[in-house]
Amino acid sequence: MNKTSVLVTPGPVPAPAEVLEILSRPLEHHRTPAFVECLKRTLTNLKPVFGTSQPVFIHASTGSGGMEAAIVNCLSPGDEIICVVSGKFGERWADMAEAYGVRTHRIDVEWGRSVEPEQIERALKDNPRTRAVLTQACETSTGALHPVREIARVVERTEAILMVDGITAVGAVEMPMDDWGLDVVVAGSQKAFMLPTGCAFTSFSSKAWRLVETARSPRYYFDVRKELEANRGGDTYFSSPVGIIRALDWILTHKMNDGGASVRARVAQLAHATRAGARELGLAIFPEFPSASLTALLLPDGLDGQKLRARLESEHGVVAMGGQDRMKGRLIRIGHMGAISNDDVLTTLTALGRALHELDPALASDTEIGRALAAARVVLDTGVRS
Ligand SMILES: *Cc1c(COP(=O)(O)O)cnc(C)c1O
Repeated sequence: MNKTSVLVTPGPVPAPAEVLEILSRPLEHHRTPAFVECLKRTLTNLKPVFGTSQPVFIHASTGSGGMEAAIVNCLSPGDEIICVVSGKFGERWADMAEAYGVRTHRIDVEWGRSVEPEQIERALKDNPRTRAVLTQACETSTGALHPVREIARVVERTEAILMVDGITAVGAVEMPMDDWGLDVVVAGSQKAFMLPTGCAFTSFSSKAWRLVETARSPRYYFDVRKELEANRGGDTYFSSPVGIIRALDWILTHKMNDGGASVRARVAQLAHATRAGARELGLAIFPEFPSASLTALLLPDGLDGQKLRARLESEHGVVAMGGQDRMKGRLIRIGHMGAISNDDVLTTLTALGRALHELDPALASDTEIGRALAAARVVLDTGVRS
């Protein structure tokens, strides 16, 4: 990779320059008064971004650790759950629950589609002992957004709780936890929070807390009862990831001090601009209801998507993601989270057009690339901010 490369994957994402500067500062011990203040402020400032009055926890782990925290704190071996599986991350959560001895009823959704609330309603009727419904908000492997607000309306009429993997949703799309009645929400540092990989965030509603008190899964590292106790004393249960938390403090006070509204607006603008451009390049958007967090583009039949992705990186300096599993070689996924400039969008569209043309001269002529850039510029110029 050359140093001018543009990172537009849906996580990890480019960090703002200020974050890189903070990460390069000398480290301090996590029990210094200055860090204790920083941690307290950060725990408080995470709440409006989640849209909750409940405590939000910071776990030193990748996002998957947050998914595991949700399971071990709320579920017991032998419990029944319903898990939406519409891509790689849904599969991961279902597998994880099974690893903890949870009986998992999977709702298999065709990749690229969103689950329908009626499917959840039916599954809850068929399985009245269901303890929890698990779903992604955005299934990052397909770019699909699930209707979690409508799902919550169905789940809240039952004894079950709704657990949402919001790792590419919190900070990227509107999803207020308390207003929408979401019981567990998981987020991660390396997506809309624009930080390195290394922290997961979780929060639990009062309905979920009742399960936290009684769940019998083995739990130690991710025990949120212990974490809450530590947080009350201005500490984390284990050593705090000082560098990432100091950078998170900056993000929350400088970029998300409006509850995240302007970051979400920027994500939406980048998505809109990219999609307007991609359509001019002759590419279709893969998911039926796309999340603003990323754009998954369906490649023309016969085009080798793995070659395209590799070329984008090696010849054009643009790092995007391909498809996974059954969609391997068939998609290009472009992320809209992180410190992405207007120029990055134009560079990405130009590179995508050129790489398509190099692989198949019938695709993306210079005229079409010109139209793609013009379409994207219209969206970026009427925009929020760069
Ligand atoms: C990125 C992501 C995760 C977490 O992945 P990690 O590699 O463990 O950080 C989980 N769920 C979704 C939907 C994601 O996009």
